Amino acid sequence: MEMKSYADLLDLQKVDLQIDRLLHDRENLPELVLYKTAHGKVEELTVAEADAVEQLKQTARSLDRTQGELGLAETKLEREQLRLYSGGMSARDADYLRREVEMLRSNKAKMEDELLRLMESSEDLEQAAEAAKTELEKLTIEKNRLAAVIKDEWRVLDAELARREARKAELLPSIDADMVALYEEQRALKGGVGVAALEDSVCGGCHLSLTAAEQLDAKRSDPPRCIHCRRILVV
Ligand SMILES: [Zn+2]
Repeated sequence: MEMKSYADLLDLQKVDLQIDRLLHDRENLPELVLYKTAHGKVEELTVAEADAVEQLKQTARSLDRTQGELGLAETKLEREQLRLYSGGMSARDADYLRREVEMLRSNKAKMEDELLRLMESSEDLEQAAEAAKTELEKLTIEKNRLAAVIKDEWRVLDAELARREARKAELLPSIDADMVALYEEQRALKGGVGVAALEDSVCGGCHLSLTAAEQLDAKRSDPPRCIHCRRILVV
């Protein structure tokens, strides 16, 4: 292969490494991690808010029911109390009624406690729903901001990638297809570097030095390869 082609191959290697780096950068933007976290939290809070709202509805229903029951209990208690105070019944009936009134009073007190508990719980749930909503709004703004930043950064990286791809397309026709295949094979095996220049008797791929005899051997083979790392060696 001509020297010009080897120079192009080295250029191709440079461009490919730039493309590799850009692709790596594209997938490893710090904002991507933050975006993922924000997205997860948004999902969590959406569930938390919906839960609180649902529980609030249930509590409101319980409140309604308990209030209704309390109203009935109060009416019944008043009626029985009046019956008791109006007198005119046997001692045994009066005694029975007194116990009934006591029981109704105790039931009413229990319902009042329950009502109080439900009202407190309702307040807590309202606060929880409100807090989740506020946090959700804040996080959604942050998530959208991150998405915009990522899009901007991707746009810049993609433009850069397009430039490198164009340069690569320019270089490829001037290099032997077989050489490109060998280069790609070595690149895949050796951390993205398939070709290296020999400088001061040192292989630019593995950074090991070659003796004069080894260099001569390398030069004789087509294409020249580093005896240590087997990469294509531009001598
Ligand atoms: Zn080497």
